[in-house]
Amino acid sequence: MNRVFNFSAGPSMLPLPVLETAAAELVCYKDSGMSVMEMSHRSPAYEEIITAAQATLRSLMQIPDNYKVLFMQGGASTQFACVPLNLMKTGKADYVLSGQFSTKAYKEALKYGDAQAVASSKDENFSKIPALTRDTFRPDTDYVHVCYNNTIYGTKYNAIPDTGDIPLVADMSSCIISEPVDVSKFGVIYAGAQKNMAPAGVTVVIVREDLLGNARPETPSMLDWKLMADNDSMYNTPPCYSIYMLKLVCEWVQSIGGLEAMKKRNQEKAALLYDYLDSQDYYIAPVDPAFRSMMNVTFVTGDADLDKKFAAEAGAAGLKNLKGHRSVGGMRASIYNAMPIEGVETLVAFMKKFAAENPKQ
Ligand SMILES: *Cc1c(COP(=O)(O)O)cnc(C)c1O
Repeated sequence: MNRVFNFSAGPSMLPLPVLETAAAELVCYKDSGMSVMEMSHRSPAYEEIITAAQATLRSLMQIPDNYKVLFMQGGASTQFACVPLNLMKTGKADYVLSGQFSTKAYKEALKYGDAQAVASSKDENFSKIPALTRDTFRPDTDYVHVCYNNTIYGTKYNAIPDTGDIPLVADMSSCIISEPVDVSKFGVIYAGAQKNMAPAGVTVVIVREDLLGNARPETPSMLDWKLMADNDSMYNTPPCYSIYMLKLVCEWVQSIGGLEAMKKRNQEKAALLYDYLDSQDYYIAPVDPAFRSMMNVTFVTGDADLDKKFAAEAGAAGLKNLKGHRSVGGMRASIYNAMPIEGVETLVAFMKKFAAENPKQ
């Protein structure tokens, strides 16, 4: 069977050249005589892989030297607990609620201290990012937490919030390595890998060194960033294969020209969809245009039955997983790094055809 265009929000498409390299190396990795899946994580061959994975990610994102890069497990959701456990020195933390994941992160932090939802766009169905100023945040809060790209609603910050000296913590699960970001503006960036970096299994944490060493005493060892940093993410067996895939994905992004080139491609893809959405009135794009995500594009017909028919017929035409998140309905096209522009062109052509064939009552 031919490969389909997979618009899944995550796990999601991986670049074809990466899958082909992985396939070629699957049974016997270089001259090791074994699969990466079978290797000791302490072997020289694997050391080389994990070292290169980190070095390539560092170089792609231009991560400054005073930041550690950790490969952890448990997905971004485990970081919802790691953040307060490692950063709540005085017990105060400010959260911006811009969707479901940021709300989950906030609820997790409530277990550990005085977490406060200082801004929210819930009243507007999370169709935008709440307006933020320096006054939004408590001056003595330990950190400010944001979700930079809201995978479910299809919104994204259009500027890095100014938190002054307060460490800014960002969940970038669904936008990491999609474009350049100034890492130095953040205290911590974390991301589950399965949207843009690798298959599920590894979670990347980028943390400024001066923020390490404040973990609360009850912090489980596996969730302690400093312990992970001191052990080069090898305190226990890391998710070896996912890290190997992350290395291949980062090398692929590098091979096409790095994050500037990646951004250009992603902008072109997103513009194709948004320009079409703006040019007609059959489909509605519910997100405030100022905060449109470049990775997750949401739209509805306004009729739940038509939405259902759309997702089903698109799926039959090889455009998979366009159904919106179960909590919001409608459609969502996740167009991460690995989605080729042909996928988006095919989707727009399908949308036109569907609109013509299914007039609204
Ligand atoms: C997918 C996602 C999560 C949840 O990730 P898991 O790795 O499944 O825990 C959290 N935040 C964002 C922004 C996501 O897109």
